[in-house]
Amino acid sequence: MAPDYIRSIMAYQPGKPISELAREMGLAESSIVKLASNENPLGMSPAARDAARDAIGDVARYPDGGAFALKSALCNKFGLAPEQIVVGNGSNDILELVSQAFLAPGLSAVYSQHAFAVYPLATHARGARGIEVPARNFGHDLAAMLAAIRPQTRVVFVANPNNPTGTFVPGGELEAFISAVPKHVLVVLDEAYTEYLAPEQRYDAMAWVGRYPNLLVSRTFSKAYGLAGLRVGYAVTHPEVADLMNRVRQPFNVTSVGLAAAEAALGDEEFIARSAEINRRGMVQLTQAFAELGLEWIPSFGNFVTFKVGDAIGINQALLKQGVIVRPIAAYGMPHWLRVSIGLPEENARFIAALRRALS
Ligand code: PMP
Repeated sequence: MAPDYIRSIMAYQPGKPISELAREMGLAESSIVKLASNENPLGMSPAARDAARDAIGDVARYPDGGAFALKSALCNKFGLAPEQIVVGNGSNDILELVSQAFLAPGLSAVYSQHAFAVYPLATHARGARGIEVPARNFGHDLAAMLAAIRPQTRVVFVANPNNPTGTFVPGGELEAFISAVPKHVLVVLDEAYTEYLAPEQRYDAMAWVGRYPNLLVSRTFSKAYGLAGLRVGYAVTHPEVADLMNRVRQPFNVTSVGLAAAEAALGDEEFIARSAEINRRGMVQLTQAFAELGLEWIPSFGNFVTFKVGDAIGINQALLKQGVIVRPIAAYGMPHWLRVSIGLPEENARFIAALRRALS
């Protein structure tokens, strides 16, 4: 039978499919606005769509288990060597591979309160101890995280920007933290939302990888690249860390369609710029509405924003009845808050109108 540390895990709760929700609420599927999973409201880049269509023709063959073409494209874009890259089935797979390669019963991982839910999940799934450090202003308290590291600690997870709170640590502070972390601890810098940062917030974590052998930068094609359903993410790290992760990686962990689409998406910089711009405008639209409605929100650097409503269960239900899906985040220790992903202008407007009615 399963060990106690597996039995005590609470499974990640995915949202209901749109079709099911539409049926329950007696609404047309087309009338539902889903702003719950930090997806790209523009969909995927046309280049990625064409590549995915072409790759479908070849699915009788196994995918390239070494992700040769995608790694080459990443090397060209970021000035890396293929030995530094691990490709995952979404960046969740990267987090899992880290926990498989570096955690075990008797060892521990450090992460922040209100940080991404998969850090505790991946830690507990290995029977390792999770050390949750209280947040500061809803974000990472890096000094406290450093102080929480124990001799048995092997991994520290940092999401920048963080999900679900959207908080951001400037590059200078982050690099000072990485350089202070003991070398027996792997720093997992999760940059799932990095493409949404404004130019003045950007820092180059890829360049740090050469300097800090205990750094791993995790990125995804699920957000700005618009490929959440195809499940592609990657890690950039020291070749020895990548080698250990590849030992526990499934041989064909990423699909051929996903690999082809990701490679094409990586080259479509115009699409990424458009996604970031629509996000920037949507953020203004939503936060202006929160201000008008007298609601508190946490300034966000991602493609979503978390706001306080008090009765989150009631407001969420009232939004659902109007066909608007957002994300309750009680599981993140924030029972009075909801997270809304930024959509197209008309989707944001639907959400705002529904929220206004729900609050009145
Ligand atoms: N990291 C963070 C901070 C996230 O918010 C998410 C998605 N919600 C992921 C990783 C995982 O995304 P994916 O597996 O789709 O790459």
